[in-house]
Amino acid sequence: PRRVHVVGGGLAGSEAAWQLAQRGVPVTLHEMRPVRTTDAHRTDQLAELVCSNSFRSDDAETNAVGVIHAEMRRAGSLILAAADANPVPAGGALAVDREGFSEAVSAALASHPLIEIARGEIAGLPPEDWDSVILATGPLTSPALAEAIRALTGEDSLAFFDAIAPIVHRDSVNMDVAWYQSRYDKPGPFGTGKDYLNCPMNREQYEAFVAALVAADTVSFHEWEASTPYFDGCLPIEIMAARGPETLRHGPMKPMGLTNPRSPDVKSYAVVQLRQDNALGTLYNIVGFQTKLKYGEQARILRMIPGLENAEFARLGGLHRNTFLNSPKLLDGALRLKAAPRLRFAGQITGCEGYVESAAVGLMAGRFAAAERLGLEPVPPPPTTAMGALLGHITGGHLAVEEEGKPRSFQPMNVNFGLFPPVETPKPEDGTRLRGAAKTLARKKALSARALRDADAWLADAGIGVPAAPALER
Ligand code: FAD
Repeated sequence: PRRVHVVGGGLAGSEAAWQLAQRGVPVTLHEMRPVRTTDAHRTDQLAELVCSNSFRSDDAETNAVGVIHAEMRRAGSLILAAADANPVPAGGALAVDREGFSEAVSAALASHPLIEIARGEIAGLPPEDWDSVILATGPLTSPALAEAIRALTGEDSLAFFDAIAPIVHRDSVNMDVAWYQSRYDKPGPFGTGKDYLNCPMNREQYEAFVAALVAADTVSFHEWEASTPYFDGCLPIEIMAARGPETLRHGPMKPMGLTNPRSPDVKSYAVVQLRQDNALGTLYNIVGFQTKLKYGEQARILRMIPGLENAEFARLGGLHRNTFLNSPKLLDGALRLKAAPRLRFAGQITGCEGYVESAAVGLMAGRFAAAERLGLEPVPPPPTTAMGALLGHITGGHLAVEEEGKPRSFQPMNVNFGLFPPVETPKPEDGTRLRGAAKTLARKKALSARALRDADAWLADAGIGVPAAPALER
């Protein structure tokens, strides 16, 4: 088969290249780093994780993210194989040693006989003689390419802001104050129930902390950026603090399920959690603490957290732009640009949100492009699968619904059960009726089981089979 060009060696592009090559289609993977870099990337590795090291819940029985993990594993995903080979403790979540993870992805791609890696920026539309291209350049797509896409689609480029959380050196945490515990002692695959570091606050400390956040100096923006909205799932802590004194206590600082061993009878008013960031356990990130506070202010205010009085930061938080297409209008059901079908899009630029979702869209784009090269029709996953539900969000199933006569605006989204078609909740055999939490749980289990069953059928039927995942050592 003829070569396919994949632009962008991030989460989506790496997965797409792997899927193509494993079906015998030659690939050139174009990555601009280290020749040119972005505001968030730090290395020249493929599939670098720019912020958190978590792929979120790995529970394939009751959680939509866990379900998409399971589907991707069944589809021979490189990203999931590399994550599974480089785990760090994180309760029920799949979190990875970020260096080991990216190295594993880079090595698998570099050593594949059908993959050629070209380092350099694609600074405009790809040459006309590349007749099958996957653009997976991510939320920080280089300006020259973003401008060319904008000109081609005729859309005002869409953008919003994303913030990243700080990382602390573990040995600078005061262990006379902090303690190890997972919320509700959830054991996770490492079986300890002690995966997180917890820093407690009493009411006085919490109120002083919130007041400091509200009064703090944030990084200022150009005027044109002022109207760009935030992604709601990733709000900076100072924005949450400004929304009301209780907001943080009900968000990233919630104290539920955590007991301070030094005063087990006194409930903490709020708790800051830190999660292991590397395999060595020397770095911890502050969970949910993305922020755009100025660096000096940021370090000063974070050191108000009991246990972090002397914290040393490996990285402070910051804020970045996020570029994405109005995909429901611009892309067809197989992720091709309607105006130029040789161009296919994958990853966060299509309007999914998150590492896992970006890789999943890369997986689908790779399968679709491979099918075309093998003379087959691309077969999308059914909407009852997690991948199909995500694809439906991107390519517009959900936009058919109009709000007040206007098409609904398109916003990036994480995979979630709200994107799945409803399922009948199974009735208990004893004839009783399920209510409340038990009913919700039964519904999630039914959605998950249906998704995995339909994913298996899709993979078996879609004509191009399932490639092997790489054999990576754990
Ligand atoms: P990327 O992984 O960014 O890959 C795109 C690649 O394309 C990059 O390697 C880039 O160098 C390259 N590239 C760009 N332009 C060109 C060009 N013209 N030519 C050649 N190469 C090019 N998601 C989470 O799940 N958890 C998080 O904690 C999280 N934090 C984030 C923090 C920030 C600051 C941002 C911006 C996003 C964050 N996301 C997070 C969202 C998203 O999951 C990640 O951005 C993810 O990496 C997206 O995958 P991708 O493959 O689409 O893009």
